[in-house]
Amino acid sequence: MAFDYDLFVIGGGSGGVRAARVAAQDGAKVALAEEDRYGGTCVIRGCVPKKLMVFASEYAGVVEDAKSYGWAIEPGQFDWDVFRGRLNDELDRLENVYRNLLKNSGVETFDQRAHLEDAHTVVLADGTKKTAKHILLATGGRPVKPGVPGDELGITSNDIFHLDELPESILIVGGGYIASEFAGILNGLGVDVTQYYRGAQILRGFDDEARGLVSEEMCQRGVNLHLGTDIIDLQQEGDKIRVRATNGKEALFDKVMFATGRAPNTEGLGLAEVGVELGRKGEVVVDDYSQTAVPSIYAIGDVTDRVNLTPVAIREGMAFVETVFKGNPTKPDHDLIPTAIFTQPEMGTVGLSEEDARDQEPIEVYATSFKPMQQSFAGRSERVLMKLVVSQKTRKVLGCHIVAPGAGEMIQLAGIAVKMGATKEDFDRTVAVHPTMSEELVTMKTPVRTG
Ligand code: NDP
Repeated sequence: MAFDYDLFVIGGGSGGVRAARVAAQDGAKVALAEEDRYGGTCVIRGCVPKKLMVFASEYAGVVEDAKSYGWAIEPGQFDWDVFRGRLNDELDRLENVYRNLLKNSGVETFDQRAHLEDAHTVVLADGTKKTAKHILLATGGRPVKPGVPGDELGITSNDIFHLDELPESILIVGGGYIASEFAGILNGLGVDVTQYYRGAQILRGFDDEARGLVSEEMCQRGVNLHLGTDIIDLQQEGDKIRVRATNGKEALFDKVMFATGRAPNTEGLGLAEVGVELGRKGEVVVDDYSQTAVPSIYAIGDVTDRVNLTPVAIREGMAFVETVFKGNPTKPDHDLIPTAIFTQPEMGTVGLSEEDARDQEPIEVYATSFKPMQQSFAGRSERVLMKLVVSQKTRKVLGCHIVAPGAGEMIQLAGIAVKMGATKEDFDRTVAVHPTMSEELVTMKTPVRTG
C-alpha cells in the first residue's frame, strides 16, 4: 500500500521536531502536525522562559553583591512589562527557528490538531486525512491541578509567563521542580512567596542532604516554605484568594499557582481505539525502542512519562529514527542522566542519592559544605554543597550532587566522568582547578560517612 508519508509526527516540541527533521534529512517523506506553538513546552512555556526568568530574578542580588565589591550602585525597579515584552520577542524568534528547521529539512507542517483513525491514518482538525507508514506521538504533557474545591481560581506554570502584572503575593502549591524553581524566581523578582508542600521535604527523590540545603537556603532568601502542609480549598475574596490549609491556617494571596505535577497529553487522540496501550496516568506505554502496542505507532517524550526532560525526549527521538529509518535498532539510554534544578541555590545531580545507593550496596560518602568565596566576600551567609557517593566495592562514583551557583553547568561535566564509570581515585588523580568551588570534588580525602 502506498502511504502519503513515511512518517507523520504529532506534536512539534523538542522531541517531535528533532525526530521529524532527522528522518527527513535521511530521505524520509515526513509531515508534522502541531495545534499550538512550535517548540512545545520546553521552548514556549517551560525550560527556556523559566531560565530567562531565573536570570532576571538573580539581578537584584547581583547589584547588592556588587556594592560589597566597591561598586557605587543602587538597585532599581524591576519592570515586568519590559521583561515580558523581551521574553515574548525571544520566544517568537525561537519558534521561528523551529519552524525553519522543519521547513529547511523538507518536513511538511500542519498547524492544527491531529488524531488517529487507524494504525496508519491521521485525521487533521479540518477533516483532511493523511496516511503514513509510521506515526510518532510526541504530544508532551500539561500541568494538572489537584482537584480541590476552588482550584479553578489558581494558575499553573503555563500562565505565569502571561501575567499582566506580577502579584504582590503568591502561594505556590507543590514541592517538585516547578514549584521550587518558581518559588525562587518570584521571590527574586520581589513577590512575597509562600510555598506549601504536603511532604516532609521538597524535591522528593533527590539526595536528602542536597534538597535539605536547597530548602534551607530558599527559606534564608525569603521564601515562606511550609512543609507538611496541603490546601483544603480556595475562595475568591475581593481581588484576593482565600486559602484554607491543613495546618489550620487561612490566608489571603493575590495569586495561587499549582505546580502539582503534569499529565501526558493522550486525551482525544483516538489512541485506545486504535489499540495503543495507555498506562495508569494516561501515558502511552512503549517498549525499549519507543514502540507502542501498535507496531506502526511509536511515542517519545513526556507523553510516555519515562524521564520527563527535554534532552531525553530528543534522545528518544534520535533513537527512534535510528531504529526505524536507519535499520539500526537503538534503545534510548535512560541511565545516569545528569540534571539541574534551577532553584536558588541551583542543584545539579547525577546518579544515585546517598539513600538509594545505601539501599543498594555499602558506600562511602564524601561531602563538604562551605561558604563560597564570591558570596562570602559579599557578606552572604549562604553555603554550597559538593558531594560524592562512592561504592566501597568497585570504588565507582555512584552519585554526584552539587548545590551551588552554576551547579547545572558543573554537573554536565561531572556527569561525563560518572557516566564513564569514574572511580573516586580517578577524581582524586585530577588536579584541582584553583580557586573554584568545584575543586572540592577532587580534593575530598576522608569519607564523612560509610556503610
Ligand atoms: P513533580 O511531579 O516533580 O512535582 C509535583 C509536586 O506536586 C510534588 O511535590 C507532589 O508532591 C505535589 N503534588 C502532586 N499532587 C498533589 C496534590 N494533589 N496536592 C498537593 N500536592 C501535590 O512535577 P512538576 O510539575 O514540578 O514537574 C513535572 C516534571 O517536569 C518534572 O518531573 C520534571 O521531569 C520536569 N521538569 C524539569 C525541570 C528541570 O529539569 N529543571 C524543570 C521543570 C520541570 P509529592 O512529592 O508528595 O508527590
